[in-house]
Amino acid sequence: MIKQKDIPTISVAYGDGIGPEIMEATLFILKEAQAALNIEAIEIGEQMYKKGFASGISPEAWESVKRNKIIFKAPITTPQGKGYKSLNVTFRKSLGLFANVRPVTSYPMLAGGCEKMDMVIVRENEEDLYAGIEYRPTCNSALSLKLITPQGSEKIIRYAFEYARNNGRKKVTCMIKDNITKITDGIFHGIFKQVAEEYPDIKTDNIIIDIGAARIASKPEIFDVVVTLNLYGDIISDIAAESSGSVGLAGSANIGAKYAMFEAIHGSAPDIAGQGIANPSGLINGALMMLNHLGQNQVAATIYNAWIRTLEDGIHTADIFNSKKSVRKVSTQEFAKAVVGNLGQLPKSMPALVAKPSKQIHLPEPVGFSHKSELVGVDIYIEYNDTNLEELVQKIQAASANSGLVLEDISQRGIVVWPQGEVENLNQDLWRLRFMAAQASLKQQQSLALQMALDKAGFKIAMAYNLSSYDQMAGFS
Ligand code: NAD
Repeated sequence: MIKQKDIPTISVAYGDGIGPEIMEATLFILKEAQAALNIEAIEIGEQMYKKGFASGISPEAWESVKRNKIIFKAPITTPQGKGYKSLNVTFRKSLGLFANVRPVTSYPMLAGGCEKMDMVIVRENEEDLYAGIEYRPTCNSALSLKLITPQGSEKIIRYAFEYARNNGRKKVTCMIKDNITKITDGIFHGIFKQVAEEYPDIKTDNIIIDIGAARIASKPEIFDVVVTLNLYGDIISDIAAESSGSVGLAGSANIGAKYAMFEAIHGSAPDIAGQGIANPSGLINGALMMLNHLGQNQVAATIYNAWIRTLEDGIHTADIFNSKKSVRKVSTQEFAKAVVGNLGQLPKSMPALVAKPSKQIHLPEPVGFSHKSELVGVDIYIEYNDTNLEELVQKIQAASANSGLVLEDISQRGIVVWPQGEVENLNQDLWRLRFMAAQASLKQQQSLALQMALDKAGFKIAMAYNLSSYDQMAGFS
């Protein structure tokens, strides 16, 4: 029995769309199972944006989060293609929630679900395209920065191995696309191989993300722990959950050194909001991860066993209902009541969960790389609306004559079009001019002076990137 003063207070967000429905259902189960929690409700999401809080959260809610350090959150709505930034991403980055842990299992009692899945996706949670750094450098181009750091990669990869060890898992698979994004995904994969050497007791392999995603759908039994980058992890966990029966089944823990946030993997499902038919299972599973994190393993096991028993009884929400295997189609609240009715019961066909204390993972601070770096060139991107390459080259060479840099090539969309190269469609307005140092090394002033000279010659500069080498290895593609 936990003493009153030791009962943790958690910040609870009811979210948008189906959020309030599944949160009420889940809190009802937690209360009936006698989870020792003090609930402090916070308002976030759509309502807060409408009240003028651009970040989607009020200062009071932030204070609650900072004080309690544990967030239990229903999904929130983020508009597509425009509007405010995702508060989920803000939470994960500003609270240092670097590890997103998403276990997905198969449920033989559900129709249509895969039969042999028991995997845990460990998704990097702070970097990648989720940095949301985007530009339109010219009228007809847009770009998004995929930001990867060796420190971030090491942290999540080490976490995945520690997680595997602590949880009796045998294999960690790295999912990447380093045949295409050789530098960013290449760093992740390279660090994976290095860290793997410290865990000889754990098997490892790697798979390119596209076939990896396909195999999750067709042969999930080949995976155990999967560690991957942010966007890939987001996509494959929806594939895995949907293959297991429904995206509404899987829970998610966002773990950092000081804070932790627990949720379902799915979104606010506006298409079914307000109908009382959403599956609360994903959020229930998020709650179970939270209880284990808080050391309330016995309550977590009791709820898990009752939840599995409810699924075995054929009591199913609409997303998993199938007339061949289901007995009764129920609403969100009816499902929660059925789980409460089964508290104390054990599963009949699946193994019962026996409570055991979960081990906390403590990681050393990653150090990153330390290489001798040298500035060797600059890529200058210009907006140019003509297709006369000869004239363009003449003008650039005249403007850069005394810069100490030599025009090495010109490219469009990553394909070299000068000095060699055949390209069907030169009809783009963003051109990359690659200049390399005429002598061994280059000073930043020379690169800036070149940009000034090009500007003076009438070129419209869209952006520029330094080209550096690290221990004489090119740090650019
Ligand atoms: P979604 O996950 O909300 O819905 C996808 C499909 O799955 C829909 O058909 C929906 O009805 C169904 N579904 C999802 N959860 C379900 C459940 N519990 N029970 C039954 N059916 C369920 O994805 P979306 O439609 O792409 O996104 C909707 C909104 O959610 C967007 O604004 C998005 O930004 C947001 N979102 C939030 C989070 C989060 O808060 N962590 C995560 C993902 C998406």
